[in-house]
Amino acid sequence: MSDKEEKFNPFEMAQSQFDLAAQYLDIDDGIKAKLRLPKRELTVNFPVRMDDGSLRMFTGHRVQYDITRGPAKGGIRYHPDVTLDEVRALAMWMTWKCAVVNIPYGGAKGGVVCNPKEMSDGELERLTRRFTSEIIMFISPESDIPAPDVNTTSQTMAWIMDTYSMTKGHSIPAVVTGKPVEIGGSLGRREATGRGVMFAAREAAHHLGVDLGEARVAVQGFGNVGSIGAELIQNELGSRIIAVSDSRGGITNPAGLDLSAVRQHKRETGSVVGYPEADTITNEELLELECEILVPAALEEVIHADNADRIRTRIISEGANGPTTPEADAILYDKGVFVVPDILANAGGVTVSYFEWVQDLQSFFWEEDEVNKNLEQIMVNSFADVLAVAQERNVNMRTAAYILAIGRVATATQLRGVYP
Ligand code: NAD
Repeated sequence: MSDKEEKFNPFEMAQSQFDLAAQYLDIDDGIKAKLRLPKRELTVNFPVRMDDGSLRMFTGHRVQYDITRGPAKGGIRYHPDVTLDEVRALAMWMTWKCAVVNIPYGGAKGGVVCNPKEMSDGELERLTRRFTSEIIMFISPESDIPAPDVNTTSQTMAWIMDTYSMTKGHSIPAVVTGKPVEIGGSLGRREATGRGVMFAAREAAHHLGVDLGEARVAVQGFGNVGSIGAELIQNELGSRIIAVSDSRGGITNPAGLDLSAVRQHKRETGSVVGYPEADTITNEELLELECEILVPAALEEVIHADNADRIRTRIISEGANGPTTPEADAILYDKGVFVVPDILANAGGVTVSYFEWVQDLQSFFWEEDEVNKNLEQIMVNSFADVLAVAQERNVNMRTAAYILAIGRVATATQLRGVYP
């Protein structure tokens, strides 16, 4: 085990973030203790028949962190580094994310320790179906609704939905979100996180008086969140995207990038790097470009104590989960960089997942415009709520988002009372 793995326990980090925000709230110590721990955890070990005929054992987890405000909600990831503590932390963050945008869900997360890049589609389908059947007593439209996460897709959700439905004997689309539209998915879900990141950046710019028509924007990560976020910021806000990147590196053109040409280049070559109308830069250099809006939309902990001082943007809209370390947060706050935290800026995905579930339960599907309009309203209201707390308490937007979210879950807990 590396030094980093030994030292970094994501659940301990999530608990210390909780402790920091909870200080600002007048919450009963007993309720605080309850909110620091997951409600339920299920670990399963199960066999999967591999293509070569052998049986291999896999381990998976599903953690329901809190269900006081509604059913547990959160993705399932497939990754070799999945641990129970990571799943606990992600489930805790989902709880605060749902509360900060005030949708009636608790938080959950799941994960299977596996390397999907080394597995065939058939192996992944059998793994998904067996994992679903192992956690079937945990999930349902009323209790716990999975969604895609790292290395899981709308196809994975289709397999989960089918396995669950076959067991129950009829179709139950509302058991997962992020499904293909053809089997009960929502229009606008694929773009929802990027769209939310765009709304978060727009609201921050309005608050700070930044002229969006003149704004330069750098985006790290050109995947689902980054590429769609960049396109929407350019097309709907009229800002100039001066840099984008992926795992192989970044590109920059101060005059602005033609994003459809960049996308085409990535489709043909596998990377944005090498796009002819731009200079090549590293991912580290991208973060340090002079710009008005920076969107980290790739990995966690990319803005840290060593580079925070060199960040030259007015606004950070966090598409990725956990891109900024607590030390960097303090430095950015002192420098006057306005950070819209992940649990607010990237909550567009879970918000439209909520719309998908509502549509499935009603068997009545909305036009894409209606999805986008409702998402906008939730993002705008949530931004205003968090900003009001930040100004009232004189704290940064991240602490404000935690104060708001934890306060909502604590109030719900208090109102419901403790059983028996
Ligand atoms: P994705 O796999 O579609 O895209 C990830 C992008 O990051 C790719 O362009 C990849 O090349 C790039 N990347 C990978 N390693 C990199 C590195 N070392 N340096 C720079 N770039 C690198 O994933 P996504 O769905 O866009 O998710 C991105 C982030 O947003 C993750 O932190 C994820 O947890 C978070 N997020 C996603 C959603 C969603 O709905 N997709 C919702 C909330 C949060």
